[in-house]
Amino acid sequence: MIRPPIEPFRIKVVEPVRMTTEDERRAIVAEVGYNLFRVRARDIYIDLLTDSGTSAMSDWQWAGLMQGDESYAGCRNFYHLEEAIKKIFGFPYFVPTHQGRAAEHVLFSTLLRPGDYVPSNMHFDTTHANIEVQGAHAVDLVIPEGLDPQCEHPFKGNMDIGRLENFIQETGKERIPLGMITITNNNGGGQPVSLQNIRQTGEVLHRHGIPLFIDACRHAENAYFIQQREAAQSGRPLIEIARETFSYADGCTMSAKKDGLANIGGFLAMRSPELYERVCQRLILVEGFTTYGGLAGRDLEAIARGLQEALDERYLAYRTGQVRYLGARLQEYGVPILEPVGGHAVYLDARRFLPHLPQSELPAQSLVVELYIAGSIRTVEIGTVMNAHEDPATGETVYPALELVRLAIPRRVYTNTQMDYIAEVVAQVYERRETLRGLRIVHEPEFLRHFTARFAPLEG
Ligand SMILES: *Cc1c(COP(=O)(O)O)cnc(C)c1O
Repeated sequence: MIRPPIEPFRIKVVEPVRMTTEDERRAIVAEVGYNLFRVRARDIYIDLLTDSGTSAMSDWQWAGLMQGDESYAGCRNFYHLEEAIKKIFGFPYFVPTHQGRAAEHVLFSTLLRPGDYVPSNMHFDTTHANIEVQGAHAVDLVIPEGLDPQCEHPFKGNMDIGRLENFIQETGKERIPLGMITITNNNGGGQPVSLQNIRQTGEVLHRHGIPLFIDACRHAENAYFIQQREAAQSGRPLIEIARETFSYADGCTMSAKKDGLANIGGFLAMRSPELYERVCQRLILVEGFTTYGGLAGRDLEAIARGLQEALDERYLAYRTGQVRYLGARLQEYGVPILEPVGGHAVYLDARRFLPHLPQSELPAQSLVVELYIAGSIRTVEIGTVMNAHEDPATGETVYPALELVRLAIPRRVYTNTQMDYIAEVVAQVYERRETLRGLRIVHEPEFLRHFTARFAPLEG
């Protein structure tokens, strides 16, 4: 049996969590239209909805909050953050934002015009939506292995370099104001991208005069995988791997709620002084002045410290080890998961878990609901509800290649015993999987429907 990873910390503060009964949970999900985003957190025992903004901060970060300088302009915490960003990312300019999607919005509303294209290995859902809302097109060009949930490959998040080259030739560089690469590839299963692939992506884009922006949310986890899996990078200090990663890019968007180990915040960093000027104008309009960008001084301090802690090798060994441990426990029970396990989450493969439910009956969402009823565990659907779209020509639904349930593990929050509990609950549901019924959508908004849609069970 696999051993859980050893924690590189001890616990100083605890937060009680409450257990409800199965009957209570059945009533709760019916009331919220079978959408777990609408359940109150107090009604959840283990919350794996997201690893975003849910990290436990360290005593060093909490101490930093007390040193928040709440001056409107030029607070000292901004300069601490600037120092950390220069050290780790190497970009000369940055603006803080209230979270990652605000960095995306500021960047895209500055650079994109209707009809433009933005290629990436795979855009995250907010990135995709923020591009499309500008009238531009978000294009995913991940390697084919990245779409096969059972294929073992050390860097399943890699960009398909050949397809990127062809895409630029066919589309024309005039209509591609920037290219992106998401590290690790969240929507593709938290899969890493190799340093070599990041370099090649930069080379192809730059040859055509197109800048590369990295979606850097989980860059520290990505750097750890590079160190562990890329032969040429073995044993190299993580800070050096991070520095080299960003040396191939012209900027990055970052959600500090991930590898910033903070509860809120983000930033947009870049090399170009001209772009920085334009970005500042947008930022002041929608986020705030250039030295706070929608955040309190204390938040900036928590991020400055969290960015440095997130690159600690012992922390990352524990972090990725805990996720891998949960994956291994599930595999012991025969539960079908996406392989290999990524950096921040274990993904259940809902197609293989519930082969009797076609994608039109929302198998992954049905599994999300059942895991809550069975064990008070909140997970999230990354499948038809989140990623299906309408074919503009035919009006028919185009189903996504992957139909997943994500068990995102918050950083430094749950114990390894709780990982065992999660595995047991999933295994119990797997044993009676044939009893699960599908769902249908009864209400949906225009954008990002998974957050607020309502569902109803299909009669079986
Ligand atoms: C979370 C995330 C974002 C958006 O960041 P928010 O802070 O949630 O707005 C963008 N890209 C990726 C890959 C993410 O995981």
